[in-house]
Amino acid sequence: MDGNRTELPDGALLIEDGKISAVGRTDEIEAPEGAEVVDATGCAVLPGLVNCHTHLCMIYGRTIGTERRLLDWLKVEMPIMARLDDTATYYGALLGCVENIKNGNTTVVENTFIPRTRDFTPENAIFRAMRDVGVRGVVARAYHARNFAPEFLESHEQQAEAVESLVEDWHGAEGGRLGVSIGPLLPWIVDIEDLFETRALADRLGIGIHMHVAESPEFNEKIEEAHGRSIRNVELLYEGRCLGSSVQAVAVADLNDREIELLAETETAVVFDPQTRLFWGTGFPGLRPFLDAGLICGLGTNGPAANCGQDLFETMKYACATAKTAANDPTALGRYRVLEMATIEGARALGMADRTGSLEVGKDADVITVNLAQPHLTPALDIPAALVYSAKGSDVRDVFIAGNAVMRNREVLTVRERDVLVAANEIAARIVPGAERVSARVA
Ligand SMILES: [Zn+2]
Repeated sequence: MDGNRTELPDGALLIEDGKISAVGRTDEIEAPEGAEVVDATGCAVLPGLVNCHTHLCMIYGRTIGTERRLLDWLKVEMPIMARLDDTATYYGALLGCVENIKNGNTTVVENTFIPRTRDFTPENAIFRAMRDVGVRGVVARAYHARNFAPEFLESHEQQAEAVESLVEDWHGAEGGRLGVSIGPLLPWIVDIEDLFETRALADRLGIGIHMHVAESPEFNEKIEEAHGRSIRNVELLYEGRCLGSSVQAVAVADLNDREIELLAETETAVVFDPQTRLFWGTGFPGLRPFLDAGLICGLGTNGPAANCGQDLFETMKYACATAKTAANDPTALGRYRVLEMATIEGARALGMADRTGSLEVGKDADVITVNLAQPHLTPALDIPAALVYSAKGSDVRDVFIAGNAVMRNREVLTVRERDVLVAANEIAARIVPGAERVSARVA
């Protein structure tokens, strides 16, 4: 992922003070005295994966409403969201971070939307979970100004106050591992002034903008209805000054050629979540036009409740399959490019490419090992193809983030996984309607 697609058979790397200090062949790199040596024989060693979009705050809705369309599905998820408190939010995020780690995702962007109450700040609970697990994380705080459940709505002043306090407490915390971004949850729950304010606030605080864009044809219908005029999603964001190089347009699916041009002109990054598109049955984007337009393309799993997993290996495979099918061309998206999208290109989309996304000297040591010595990965004659088409998140053996060992031999070292599962089941029994019997079974 160094720009030359370098592969090193019998490779080694040296981690010092949280950073990669040498990369080469095993016989070229000498471990300093006292260094711990991790034997990765039989493994592929690659940069930690970058999950550019998820909703860990919705994790308790996993397996609920799996045969619905997006907006209908939200109707069964919202009552669960409404019952989240500080403990439920913390353990939900902890569970989601553990799941991301076990799939090799060292960077996670959590798009948070939880009702605003006076007695707890959801984003603080999520940041605490990210800190405790040791993941590299961004909380993208969603904004709701109108046309949404009343308990989510807030004024510009309320948004600004909340975001300023989050930036002060968490942006750049944990050695730069944690960060904040903002954006409207959906394009029809803000008006044009709200978009101007979002841009002004982001610029003033030096943070990015992260938002769902044209996920399905329904989006453009809802925009027309709410804004009272015929305007496409990307045109609306252009008018509202919410495109640009620090912006991630997420889940893009229903865009026309002019909208793709606008994204390219403004250097806006896009994030694809192909398995969620297929999960809802609302169509999927042909990725090729975005690649042809020269856009930076990241990948996201979307929330654990919206595809029932956090496996970015699965996302890579779906991305290739949907790109090939849409273009009727098996070369529409290849294994190297999609691996870049899951690592260095995702990091670029988030403005983090100077720190993570590749195994290069000077970068933070976000490194994973993938165990290739398994039936479904044998023979791995072409390792990138094995990673994209045959590997699963559960094949990840070790995870290092900023040089810290967060998982070894599939055991998470920073928190006790079993305790997290027990707590999450107890909380689900309390907040998910009808979940009591399931929890009793697990306990
Ligand atoms: Zn989403």
